[in-house]
Amino acid sequence: MRFVSTRGAAGVGLSQAIRAGAAPDGGLYVPEEVPAAGPAGLADAPLADFAAAMLAPFFAGDPLADDLPAICAEAFDFPVPLVTPDPKRPGLKALELFHGPTGAFKDFGARFLMACFDRFGDPARPLGVLVATSGDTGGAVGCAAEGRAAVRATILYPAGRVSPFQEAQLTCWGAPVQALEVDGDFDDCQRLVKAAFADPALADAHNLTSANSINIGRLLPQIAYLAYASVRIARASGNEIGLIVPSGNLGHGFAALYARAMGFPIRPVILATNANRTLVDWKTTGVYAPRASVATIANAMDVGAPSNFERLAALPPERRKLGVERVTDDQIRDRIRAEYAASGYVWCPHSATAAEAYARLSDRVRDEVIWIAAATAHPFKFAETVAPLIGETVTAPPALAAIQGRALAKRSIPARLDRLADALRPVSTAS
Ligand SMILES: *Cc1c(COP(=O)(O)O)cnc(C)c1O
Repeated sequence: MRFVSTRGAAGVGLSQAIRAGAAPDGGLYVPEEVPAAGPAGLADAPLADFAAAMLAPFFAGDPLADDLPAICAEAFDFPVPLVTPDPKRPGLKALELFHGPTGAFKDFGARFLMACFDRFGDPARPLGVLVATSGDTGGAVGCAAEGRAAVRATILYPAGRVSPFQEAQLTCWGAPVQALEVDGDFDDCQRLVKAAFADPALADAHNLTSANSINIGRLLPQIAYLAYASVRIARASGNEIGLIVPSGNLGHGFAALYARAMGFPIRPVILATNANRTLVDWKTTGVYAPRASVATIANAMDVGAPSNFERLAALPPERRKLGVERVTDDQIRDRIRAEYAASGYVWCPHSATAAEAYARLSDRVRDEVIWIAAATAHPFKFAETVAPLIGETVTAPPALAAIQGRALAKRSIPARLDRLADALRPVSTAS
């Protein structure tokens, strides 16, 4: 399988696409052809086995092909329950993607990507993974990189703009992970990362690579678990599936459309967004106009220029059909309260946008399929928002409680490239 740029650059193999992140022409890598869904019998297999089988066509001919089962075993090593949040409405399932070590679905992509990097990287000259983060990605990448031989991960986050729990989750990982607290905001962090990649000497000296969501290596596992959920629910219920995915940079959005294009039993796809308008405006006017992001209580979705939009736009129109529901902060709060009152189920602010999109469906549309809402983060990660709404404390699941017990280490730097370059210089490994 070759991967081609959305802007036309010639195809490369999967390892090369993963190593590069973006294509040399600035576009994003997409598979040259859409492989057909495998036999439905795979639905009985554990998710890791299903993923290895359904992702095999993407790895065909690549040096990593033989490693795919082991990569999937590493990436899918925690449960992904499909639950019925409210027994009175059995037509809505929640795909709980937050039982990994950092409590959000980013764990899948980060672990899959690190498992790939670690295999084609060279311990004598490790890949320097740089990631700017304001939330869930940095923690997931740090966790996935800890203890690996062929990568070194550097996480940049804005000083004073992450919650105490988020900071713990960014700064608690051992070698080869380091956390840099940048005196600046998230945009400064992102600018620094971009400046580092744009500096050929620096990029080469540290073998720099990126773990951000445009990397095709983060999207493949998302396609796999959405396909798996659709096959299992379709088989158990005899119905086709509708997917509702809370959306920011459109990783899930693309993965949902792609799984449907492959032939998995997915029919309607709805993107649920927070108050950011870019997608709903595109849907209603047909014009894509990126804008500055606005801050919301579903902050991992505060995106005004979704980085994977280009992949969506590259799909043929018949494969791009979807709905968009925009959900304001007040509507998120009302939805969390209402669902808790109705069933006791607790949605995180991001996942609540999907629950709200479901609640808005007409009775007819609601009954046409079984709906699966992606539950993208554990509500504990947003306890300061969720607890007052439900009038209960939100308890930490074991994985997140374990983070709170870890030793923390960070280095503070001004938002300057020379100081980032200093921080990238390997320290003595004698300790
Ligand atoms: C990253 C994130 C999202 C947005 O996902 P995309 O795939 O970028 O659209 C939604 N919810 C949570 C909790 C996230 O961390």
